[in-house]
Order: sequence, then structure tokens, then C-alpha cells
Amino acid sequence: MKAGILLVGDELTGGRVLDINSSYIAERLDLSGWGVSAIITVGDDGEAVKGGLEYLLDRSEGVIVAGGLGPTADDITTAAVAAAFNLSLHMDDEVLRKLKGRFETYHIPWTENNSKQAVFPAGAIVLENRAGTAAGFCIERGGKLVAVIPGVPGEARRMAAEEVLPCFEKFFGKADEKKMRKQVRLFGLSESKIDETIALMGPFPDVSVGFYARFPEIHLLLTARGKNESEAAARLEEAVKKIHEKLGRYIYGYDDETIEGIVASLLIERGYTLAVAESCTGGLITDRLTNIPGSSGFLERGAVVYSNLSKVELLGVPPEIIKAHGAVSRETAELMARGVREMAKTDIGLATTGIAGPSGGSEEKPVGTVYFALSDSSKTYCRKSHFRWDRRRVKEISSQFALEMLRRYLIEGRVFDE
Ligand code: ATP
Ligand code: MG
Repeated sequence: MKAGILLVGDELTGGRVLDINSSYIAERLDLSGWGVSAIITVGDDGEAVKGGLEYLLDRSEGVIVAGGLGPTADDITTAAVAAAFNLSLHMDDEVLRKLKGRFETYHIPWTENNSKQAVFPAGAIVLENRAGTAAGFCIERGGKLVAVIPGVPGEARRMAAEEVLPCFEKFFGKADEKKMRKQVRLFGLSESKIDETIALMGPFPDVSVGFYARFPEIHLLLTARGKNESEAAARLEEAVKKIHEKLGRYIYGYDDETIEGIVASLLIERGYTLAVAESCTGGLITDRLTNIPGSSGFLERGAVVYSNLSKVELLGVPPEIIKAHGAVSRETAELMARGVREMAKTDIGLATTGIAGPSGGSEEKPVGTVYFALSDSSKTYCRKSHFRWDRRRVKEISSQFALEMLRRYLIEGRVFDE
């Protein structure tokens, strides 16, 4: 079974708005076992809508039209679809009553052009819009379905998933194949190493694995097929389990999870408090951690200690140590982590110091050299890394590395193997 997607809107064809509906709708169709025949974008123009519809109906059983259902004169989709199929338009009194009720509830003055949103082609089934005012509709023509929904992304996405797909399924029956998807997020291993490990595990029955490098992470997108959702889910789970057995240490999370989110949950769960001293990361670690709601429950402070003086004044690093070993050194990093922990009276202290470049490197400590230190009441761990990236990327990967170090510590009670 194939479905086509028709996007309607001058803002799309005029390049003012970037389409974010079709990728979402296409993925939902794909997961439900539908092939996508084509995705077409046209302006708010009756003839163009008609042409797009004809093209897609020639190649599909179902068509989803998104955009141009609003109250204003430039929204012509309903009229264009009706004209394309020679259907008359009529007012749905029930929809009109609900629409007026909604305006009253939200104290929005009613203007007559809004009644347009209660007009549908003859024979249409109304599709409810739980996220906005314009209802959608679905019509049947010669054994095929055309569903029309608004273009506002929040409404289009929700209606495609909750109204259109169930309507298609009711009419055509469930597809004989369903797909389930899971994203596996890794950090700390190269793409080629991950690829090699997965290749050695052999192919997974009915599960495909896609690689996506999202600096500084690698994401695997697993797609499982099955006769129904539960069969696809079981295959997916089996593949995830096998991948986890081999690569679990490098998997920090799944789907929308972030490393800072995972670290935050672990800190809260363990009841630990944290203080961060950042030199080369310039506050990025603290920024990422404070993006997580509830971070005040574990984060006591984050200090940007960029100069030597600030490391002395704010963290109590002895100036002789900096003089003897340099600001970018194991000795300084360890004393930074310990210093910030002691000053803040937290369970853990985390510190970074490095050379982000492009200048400032030396033979002994080239650009991209970064020291990471983690201190608790019994021990201070330190690890040196060398990154070959530009300044911004060194900051990004260093913040990630520090968070990963903390994650490993929280899970394994120690830092990387040294
Ligand atoms: P409304 O009920 O709000 O009038 P509508 O059906 O008239 O909805 P449109 O006029 O097509 O929808 O679009 C409403 C808003 O959604 C506009 O700001 C438009 O730019 C945006 N929009 C429409 N289609 C897309 C799309 N494919 N991707 C992203 N944004 C879109
Ligand atoms: Mg529009």
C-alpha cells in the first residue's frame, strides 16, 4: 500500500518556511507499513492542488494533504479538493457549533470568516483537531482515500498520527507489516569500530541498522519489521539486547536521551552533589547540566576558571604547582577538581583544563590536549586526551568527555580503564 503527501502553502513554495511536516508524516507512514509514493509541495492555488492530487492518486491508495485549512481568504485547500472531485461544499452545523463554543471558552471575538472552517465537501468524514481550530476531513474516491489536515506543524503531526492513520487502517485494514524503531546513542568509540563489532555479530533477523555520526556521538538507528507491532517490538528488543551485550559500556542512552540528562538522573538517584571547575570548556559542562530541569538538586556550582589567577583564587590551586607543571597539566587538573569539591563541600568535583587552540600548543602539549579530573572524598582520577578538532569542537567534545567520565564513575564507581 502506498500513500502520497501533498503540502500546500505559498510560504513553502516561496521558501519562507522550511517544511517539517513531510518527514514526520513519511516516517509515521513507513512505520505503519505504508510505502510513500511521492511528496509534493504546491502553493495556495486550486489548479496546483488538483494537479498534485491527480499525480499522487495515480500512484497511491491514500493521499495526505496538509496546509491551507485556515479561516483566511488565502486558505483554499478545502475548496480546491472539492472542485477536483466535483463535490459541492456544505456547512457542518455540529462543527460550527463546537467552533463557536471554542471561541467563547477562550474569549476570542468571533468573526464570520471563521465559519469557513466548518465547511466540508459533500460526503466527507470530519477529522477532529485536538491541537487547534481547523478540523480536517477524509473523503473516499474510487476506493482511494484523501485526508486533508491543517499545515501548522503541531496540528499536522498529531492529526496524521491520531486521525489519518487510524482512518486509513479502518478503511484498508492494517498493513501486513509494521516497523518499530529505536535509536541507540554511543560515545567514545569510532564509527568503524562500532561497525566492525556489529558486523561480527552477524545480521539481525528483520532488523536493519543505520549509522549516523552526530558529532561527537554515533547514533545507530535500528528498524525492526514484523507482522504486527508486538513481533517487530520483540525483534527490536532482541537486537538492542545483543548490541548492548557487546557495546553497552559505550551506550549512554536511547532515543531522545542526552548524556547530561542521564548524568543528572544518576546524580539525583544516588543523592550526590556536584561542583564543576571549567577552564577550556568555558562553562559548557555547566550549561548542559543546567539545561536539565531539577539540576539545582545536585549542582552546587560551576566556575569558569580561565586564568591562572582564578585557579589560585577560586580553587586554591597553589601557584607553585601551576608554575612548575603548567595550567594544562595533570597536577593542576587534579587540584582543580579537588579544590572545587572542597570549596563547594560537594560529593564530587569535576574539572577540565586544556588547549583549545588554534594557538598556544607546544611539542609536549599540542593544541587539543585536555586534562579531565574527577575528585571524590577518597580519590582523584585524571585522564588526558588529545583531540584534533577546531576550537568549538574541542570544547564540545571535552564537555562530552567530562560528562561521560562522570557517567562511568556513577555507574561503575571508577573512571575509564587506565
Ligand atoms: P490554520 O488553522 O492555522 O490556519 P492552515 O491549515 O491554514 O492552519 P497553513 O496556513 O498552511 O495552515 O499554515 C499555518 C502555519 O503553519 C503557517 O505559519 C505555515 O508557515 C506553517 N506550515 C504549514 N505547512 C508547514 C510545513 N509543511 N512545515 C512547516 N510549517 C508549515
Ligand atoms: Mg496556508
